[in-house]
Amino acid sequence: MLGIYAGLAGLLVAYFVSLIVRPPDQSVRIVDSWGVGAFELFASALCLFRAVYSRRRVVPLMLGIGILSWSIGDTVLAAESAGGGSPSVPSLADLFWLGFYPTIYVALVLLTRKHLNRTGATTWLDGAVAGLGAAALCACFAFNTILHSVGGSATTVATDLAYPIGDGLLLMLAVGGTAIIPGRKSPQWMLIAGAIAITAIGDTFNLFASSGSTSHLGAILNGIAWPCAILLISIAVWMRPLQSSPLVQSRTVGFLLPGLGALAGLSILVFDTVHQVTPVAVGLATATLIAVGIRLAVSVRGLRILTETRRRQAITDELTGLGNRRQLFNLLDAFFADHADPETVDRPLSLLYVDLDHFKEINDSFGHSAGDEVLRQLGPRLTSHLRATDALVRVGGDELAVLIMDTDSTYAATVAERLIAELEQPFVLDTLSVRVGASIGIASAPTDATDSTALLRCADLAMYRAKVGPSPVELYRRDIDDDGNRLRLVDELRDAILGGHLEVHFQPQVDLVTGTLSAMEALVRWPHPRLGLIPPLEFIPLAEEAGLMQSLTAFVLERAVEQCAAWRAARQMVTVSVNVSATNLLDSGFSQSVMAALARHDLAPASLILEITETTIIRDFDLCKIVIEQLRKLGLGVSIDDFGAGVTSLAYLGSLAASELKLDRSFLTRLATGDTERNLALVRATIALGHKLNMRVVAEGIEDLEALNLLASIGCDLAQGYFISEPMLAADLALPAARLEPGTRLDTAVA
Ligand code: C2E
Ligand code: MG
Ligand code: MG
Repeated sequence: MLGIYAGLAGLLVAYFVSLIVRPPDQSVRIVDSWGVGAFELFASALCLFRAVYSRRRVVPLMLGIGILSWSIGDTVLAAESAGGGSPSVPSLADLFWLGFYPTIYVALVLLTRKHLNRTGATTWLDGAVAGLGAAALCACFAFNTILHSVGGSATTVATDLAYPIGDGLLLMLAVGGTAIIPGRKSPQWMLIAGAIAITAIGDTFNLFASSGSTSHLGAILNGIAWPCAILLISIAVWMRPLQSSPLVQSRTVGFLLPGLGALAGLSILVFDTVHQVTPVAVGLATATLIAVGIRLAVSVRGLRILTETRRRQAITDELTGLGNRRQLFNLLDAFFADHADPETVDRPLSLLYVDLDHFKEINDSFGHSAGDEVLRQLGPRLTSHLRATDALVRVGGDELAVLIMDTDSTYAATVAERLIAELEQPFVLDTLSVRVGASIGIASAPTDATDSTALLRCADLAMYRAKVGPSPVELYRRDIDDDGNRLRLVDELRDAILGGHLEVHFQPQVDLVTGTLSAMEALVRWPHPRLGLIPPLEFIPLAEEAGLMQSLTAFVLERAVEQCAAWRAARQMVTVSVNVSATNLLDSGFSQSVMAALARHDLAPASLILEITETTIIRDFDLCKIVIEQLRKLGLGVSIDDFGAGVTSLAYLGSLAASELKLDRSFLTRLATGDTERNLALVRATIALGHKLNMRVVAEGIEDLEALNLLASIGCDLAQGYFISEPMLAADLALPAARLEPGTRLDTAVA
């Protein structure tokens, strides 16, 4: 097929050359009429041939019929003017020529249509501006000439007018379509559009020719335009459509053609003021500018919507749909800006800083999609406990913030408690249900801070205290949390540790089988001259931060071992438990210092149990596993503290060489509430598991006789809790010489 078309192109070039070299008024009928007609008929036949064998045949068919119709027109003209006769006006040929236009319109619309569902109103309007501008320009030349030349019968005028109108419309569709189709245009489209441009030029020169004002160039163009256009259209139907990759974003539609269209429209109207232009061109130019106006209005509206969408996106967290950190700062900044106004001074604001517990474990154990799902559920669950005027935002990761206007910290604390209760309810995911829980810090403005950053910091500090302390909700306290105070507190803590001013309290553990006192847990306290007795969870994080954990543990260990030796000397055969932190386990000299302390007081390693919390173990499992093995080899006891407080994975338990399992207080809390049967089964199974792994099982937080009896009945080995005794200084603990009667409180037993 390539060869055939190359041959046709060669013929065309030869014809073109012959037109150039021969004198303008010399015509070779056999070539100009019959030759051109045959050439066009052949090209049209090739086009229709393609249509028959094409899967998508409508467009090739329309194009083929169109150019065939024109070709027949040319052949009819050749026949009519054969033998020197001049054809009638309008002639039969006009009928065929005009048949060209509607079929090509249909083809152009079909070719453009597939892009239209991907384009918006603005692209449509761009196409309209470009097309109308082109039509206006075309009308400007064509109609001017024709109006000056036409005359005769109504059909003659109508026929003569039909061509410029047809061409104008054709040009409008071609230019408009080129403006609408995004990105690189297909070669097919470019050939067709090019062919149409050529016919427009040719027809314009034809008009000049029929009005008698022709030139040599005009004659050449008039002669070559149609065969050339027909050949191009015929070639176009053989072109493959451009394969666009779905991965490559198509470029937006260019602005050149609509811009030129608008410019043409404007120029025509301006030109019309000095030199009268045909009303058709003025009408089209006016329509072009109206389309420009509508395009601008649509753009401005689109821009407004876009700005609003972008603004919303900028302050929205994509995952949860809640406001994001930027939104939090927007709201806080607006509050503090308002607050500068004396009239709003009495409108307080509370900031609740919420940090989820165990979120990392959920991500690690069940995958990020589980974590994401938990976060997605947060919004609806938490907002149900808030007023419509309260704002809930996701600050980042597993941290949220709630802003409550016109409230005092008491109300804020109530809300926080409600949120905690809600977050403690399980989150039901696709195939599992997980528990998270949370810690909340509360700061109030303007009492605690007078700018956004400071307020957030206050709430964050309080949250940190809530995280490590016994209560999940903490209000910001300047005396503890304030940065300045914090530094001072660190200094004081250093002095207290190094000066030996901390206190070690002991809490007894009772053997649930024999009823004897069998162990003591050493719990550190800081008697502070100003702040009173500070509980460990409030100052241990401070010691961690200040790198004081080694000294702190060494101090507690020394006191505990010393006290244990004293009890043993007095024939109280108790073991002593000391809590150790992750920092201690990282210290390579830790086990030696433990052994040295035992040696100093002539105590067997078995009398000491080191408690490591489950959370510490999970955080750095491999290290903890090795250290636990080392400590056990030295003969020391190792206890897994607060077991069951976090997201527990039983899988790891079997590989740890620990000697004791301390059930977290939350086990007991769950026994008292909720589905008791199931929870009891859970505790029973955990105890059995501990025993299977050769661990003794200790229950913490026994606060009443009922719990004590229950745990004894299900095989728990030891019990510790306020019911037996609160932690006290060794001197204040009155120890019974013999077996305790079941259900006897230690302090009352002795009193
Ligand atoms: P833990 O090791 O789980 O200690 C038990 C905590 O529960 C103690 O809190 C104790 O006072 C409290 N408790 C005991 N019986 C009951 C009860 O019946 N009901 C309730 N509600 N609570 C009870 P404490 O002394 O405030 O210690 C808190 C945590 O601080 C300890 O939890 C331990 O993880 C840590 N800790 C304490 N002393 C030290 C230490 O010397 N070194 C290290 N690294 N951590 C320590
Ligand atoms: Mg402990
Ligand atoms: Mg514990």
